[in-house]
Amino acid sequence: MVIRPRADIDALPRYAAGGNAGGTIRLADNEVPDGPLPSVAKAIAEAAAQANRYPEIGVTALTGRLARKLGLPGERVAVGCGSVSLCQQLVQAMCQAGDEVLFAWRSFEAYPIVTRIGGAKAVRVPLGPAHTHDLIAMAAAITPRTRLVFVCNPNNPTGTAVRREELSRFLAEVPPHVLVVLDEAYREFVTDPAVPDGLDFARIHDNVAVLRTFSKAYGLAGLRVGYMAGPAPVVDAVCKVRIPFSVNSLAQAAAQAALDAEDELIVRCAAITAERERTRAGLLASGYEVPDAQANFLWLPLGDRTTKFTEHMLANEISVRAFPGDGVRVTVGGRQENDALLEAARTFH
Ligand SMILES: *Cc1c(COP(=O)(O)O)cnc(C)c1O
Repeated sequence: MVIRPRADIDALPRYAAGGNAGGTIRLADNEVPDGPLPSVAKAIAEAAAQANRYPEIGVTALTGRLARKLGLPGERVAVGCGSVSLCQQLVQAMCQAGDEVLFAWRSFEAYPIVTRIGGAKAVRVPLGPAHTHDLIAMAAAITPRTRLVFVCNPNNPTGTAVRREELSRFLAEVPPHVLVVLDEAYREFVTDPAVPDGLDFARIHDNVAVLRTFSKAYGLAGLRVGYMAGPAPVVDAVCKVRIPFSVNSLAQAAAQAALDAEDELIVRCAAITAERERTRAGLLASGYEVPDAQANFLWLPLGDRTTKFTEHMLANEISVRAFPGDGVRVTVGGRQENDALLEAARTFH
């Protein structure tokens, strides 16, 4: 007898990070180009000096801080080891074998993986023609087995966002026992006022949770910390399935220091969204189709030319994220990085 893992886990695709090749301009993983602010780096160094101690297990200080910022009771906020970990905890907390998790496709590639790990069944609803969520089709795809719906807003990897009215109509149709998770990892880059703040919905619906992260706008992808605002019973269950101490002490300290420096970080986001618009305009001028983007990346629906484009970029020492057969996601970097991308894109035939 050969040792064998669970058959469904054996068959699971590996979570593929963007694949930033060494020495290239890194536009594959939706990171921000700037390192931590000095005040944040100092907090990390101070926490590192205490690394012989376990982190605070309940993440109490950071949770309380976030709750005050969001204007919610502490029992409605959970912190996780990155929001991708919270996605997995949500499936574990909500689903039993055979339950369904509904999401758009293409969307965040962690959704099918965490669904399978949790023993649930993934139901994918194709994006609409403009690369946006088809919320009407998603509402129609809810069955008595549906327990959880992920709505990634703005959507990774297409950058498109659903507007207030359509989300409102969708939420009105979802049965109250189905949890809708608004994954807002890129919320800080949204510039269209018609794109709602999911927290407004979480405040009035008992079946809505919002995911946010320190990985993107707050520039702490390497430390792994994200949070959820949701219904108290869901928060409670999500905390129960969290791996003990998985939100490490450097992450807890850095997140608090980043909240102290929030104003400065939001200024950085404005620079990135300005670069996003400039880069998009450049790509449109070169003849590319580029959907309106509300995050820190752009989507190029290149279909069969995806792999060829990605190789061309790599030949120009630029790493981008390929979804073969479908398209390419390019992160908005610093000005010179985006210029390099635009130049390379102009010479792709
Ligand atoms: C990057 C991202 C996350 C957050 O990841 P972390 O685990 O917090 O680093 C969550 N959702 C989506 C859609 C993302 O793109």
